[in-house]
Amino acid sequence: MRTIQMVDLKSQYDLIKDEVDQAIQGVIDTSSFINGSQVREFSTALAEYTGAKYVITCGNGTDALQIAMMGLGFQPGQEVIVPAFTYVATAEVIALLGLKPVFIDVVAETYELDISQLESKLTSKTVGIVPVHLYGQCSNMEEILAFAGKHNLKVIEDTAQAIGAKYTFSDGRTRQAGTMGDVGTTSFFPSKNLGCYGDGGAMFTNDENLAEKLRMIANHGQKKKYHHHIVGVNSRLDTLQAAILNVKLKHLDRYSASRNEVANTYDRAFEGHDTIKIPVRSSYSTHAFHQYTVQVEGAGRDDLKEYLSAKGVPSMVYYPVALHQQEAYMNLGFKSGDFPVAESLCRKVLSLPIHTEMKIEDQEYIIEMIKSFFE
Ligand SMILES: *Cc1c(COP(=O)(O)O)cnc(C)c1O
Repeated sequence: MRTIQMVDLKSQYDLIKDEVDQAIQGVIDTSSFINGSQVREFSTALAEYTGAKYVITCGNGTDALQIAMMGLGFQPGQEVIVPAFTYVATAEVIALLGLKPVFIDVVAETYELDISQLESKLTSKTVGIVPVHLYGQCSNMEEILAFAGKHNLKVIEDTAQAIGAKYTFSDGRTRQAGTMGDVGTTSFFPSKNLGCYGDGGAMFTNDENLAEKLRMIANHGQKKKYHHHIVGVNSRLDTLQAAILNVKLKHLDRYSASRNEVANTYDRAFEGHDTIKIPVRSSYSTHAFHQYTVQVEGAGRDDLKEYLSAKGVPSMVYYPVALHQQEAYMNLGFKSGDFPVAESLCRKVLSLPIHTEMKIEDQEYIIEMIKSFFE
């Protein structure tokens, strides 16, 4: 039987082995494992790539969210609006900082937070909104920024799945995911679109003072060694990871193009299918296709998943349980039925294998197996 993977990081590495090995050896040769020159080089290169004025690297994407909220001065008891259908990290840091996550339902077609519900979530304690560019496509930033501006809220874009995606405003301006809100956060977890070989993360901002503060918080609240101005954390991108990311950033456009090719092939295969609903492309964003996620109509999603697994085709459910139904967030007092779209998506979504080195014969096999389930 074939061995198809959700994400094939080994094949990706094989094609850039010489560059990566050299970069890693370079770090070992200098032994600058923490704060080596590659870290600064990478943040400069990433700023150039994304168009963000400042890029502050840190230990992972979850830390990036936490540091962003600390940097923006969110205080315990205040409220932050966050989609009920996302990875837990987004809500976790809100709770961890003693803030209250205020869940909002999402749009079934694009998975972005439903802007028409923002008004109803607003209280005198609301300080921020965290749009999540889920699966690789930007949320409706124009409306979110307008709403935030009107109500004096901060916007933190969770760009862990959408690095490189481009958003177009109605006046024609385009901006990259993560560079439109007060802070954008991302993750370099190995399977992310720009992944390192361990943990890593970064924040984007165009505000110089905020950039300085984020940098300080990520580094124990210090500007100068052993002089601590504010309470911070220890969250660093290590030099080895930065060196690897320097290599991989050069390939990111090619990686995004490959992901889009795979997505287009799936689209063509399932367009008009009775049961498999292909991803809806929004008019204002390109898609980075971190995930190719279909919706399986009816009750057959889990059966399809099991069937595929028996045929050697992996698939994943991102995510099986909405955040308001997670045990850890029960104390917030939400109940089943509060976010019907999120709850229904948990029963319908299925992410298919997608990565940068997908072989066409493998993808043809995946498509054939999916179609055969319905015959
Ligand atoms: C991966 C991810 C994170 C967290 O990133 P880590 O580097 O694993 O901490 C946060 N939000 C979303 C939407 C993610 O997909």
